[in-house]
Amino acid sequence: MAITFDDLPFVSGGHDRPSINQRDALDTEKHILLTLRTEHIPATGFVNEDKVEALGQTGIDLLTEWNQNELELGNHGYHHFDSNNLSVSDIEQEIVRGETHIRPLAESVGRDLKFFRFPYNHTGDTEEQRIALADVLKKHGYSLAATTIDTEDYLFAQAYDCAYSHHYDEDMTKIRSAFLDYVRIEVPYYQHLNETVMGRDTPAVMLLHASRLNAVVLKEVLKIFRQNNYRFVTLSQAQSDPVYNLEPAVTTKYGPAWGYRWARERQIKVNGALEQEAPDWIKSYCIAHKANDD
Ligand SMILES: [Zn+2]
Repeated sequence: MAITFDDLPFVSGGHDRPSINQRDALDTEKHILLTLRTEHIPATGFVNEDKVEALGQTGIDLLTEWNQNELELGNHGYHHFDSNNLSVSDIEQEIVRGETHIRPLAESVGRDLKFFRFPYNHTGDTEEQRIALADVLKKHGYSLAATTIDTEDYLFAQAYDCAYSHHYDEDMTKIRSAFLDYVRIEVPYYQHLNETVMGRDTPAVMLLHASRLNAVVLKEVLKIFRQNNYRFVTLSQAQSDPVYNLEPAVTTKYGPAWGYRWARERQIKVNGALEQEAPDWIKSYCIAHKANDD
């Protein structure tokens, strides 16, 4: 499997409290990179250029760290844009402006930018848009980054950030373990889904985010993958499997994981309702604790 992180340099970049952000961004990345390096895990980090700008020099320093050895950078757009709401030429602008820092960085270590991942995995909500977006990626030399395992870590990360901002240490612990419980369910779920649809074991692509939560749980998440017999490869290695040669020719305004897209394309019936949802208390955690905001 290939591990990918979205929303680099730091999920909460672009916030209106840059000093707190810079410290948290540095701290988050330090933990994520330490875990990846100690365990020799290759990973691709998908960058939003506006989050780099919001962090100033810190943002650039963080990307430089992410651009070495087994870690590489990918493009996630200038903003965290929603392709459902933009024209093809606006999306092309997002892609090109998204390269401002990552292209020179990649080139400085003799690399090319290989992958683009659409925010929300919104790859085209009409057939026309899907084909146009695929052409734009091709024109700019990108392969579309897939996602085959999505544990909705962003939901847990949002709850964790809210607990963190209130210094609710007990809740932070509870949210951490709720996320790991969910990962323990979702990893074999997607493994089974993909195998059912493709009829064989295929390399997985795991979606995570550069969040405070992942900084503290990554070690445990990697352990869960190992328990499910995964080993770790680069995104290029994973996506060199023929299953990724063609993007699923599926239009959707949502961002389903690739197993669901492959199922639709191959007209294989899968029951998405069998996928367990993230707990309600996680989804409503921030709203429930908003009354206590300062
Ligand atoms: Zn994203």
